[in-house]
Amino acid sequence: MTRKTRQDGIRTPADLKLRCVVDPDTACWHWKAARDVNNRPSFWFPPIKAVASIGVACAWWKTGKRPEKGSAWHAVCNTPDCANPAHRRCGDRSTQMLALKIVRSPLVRARQAQGKRLHSKLTDADVAAIRGSTMTLQQIMDRYGICRSYACQLRRGVKRATLVAPQSSVFAIGAAMNSLNLKVAA
Ligand SMILES: [Zn+2]
Repeated sequence: MTRKTRQDGIRTPADLKLRCVVDPDTACWHWKAARDVNNRPSFWFPPIKAVASIGVACAWWKTGKRPEKGSAWHAVCNTPDCANPAHRRCGDRSTQMLALKIVRSPLVRARQAQGKRLHSKLTDADVAAIRGSTMTLQQIMDRYGICRSYACQLRRGVKRATLVAPQSSVFAIGAAMNSLNLKVAA
């Protein structure tokens, strides 16, 4: 990227298209210019007087604002770096993962679940006790202070499907590692 590029920046979708190679079959715009340290397309965007990503620029062109906190203007054409604004929708991290068909590894999922469970009312031991008991839903609700639908989902294994050694993040991650290793070995 030259100094001149930074001064001129990208003001309009037409400017953006000039930095891309357009695929005639899919109409996807493949970004060919500068990337930031995370290898994401990055350019000077005069409307906000800052360096922006394609998602930020698309949000600006469609809404006149920067993207809301927690939202992501991601590509929905299965081409992660596609810069065509017509191929971008406002979603969040979760819809972005789905759109890009990113599958998290068991290790990452174990860490995420562990992070959520730090704030959970129930330990894995509690959940195991609920599943092993003959308590009624009402008794479970009263004893653990949870609502009916959550109690029901816990008991059926819809929520907290995988239980690991109670209260132990080390074991949770270890279990995920083991399942990874087993798959590799198999
Ligand atoms: Zn596309």
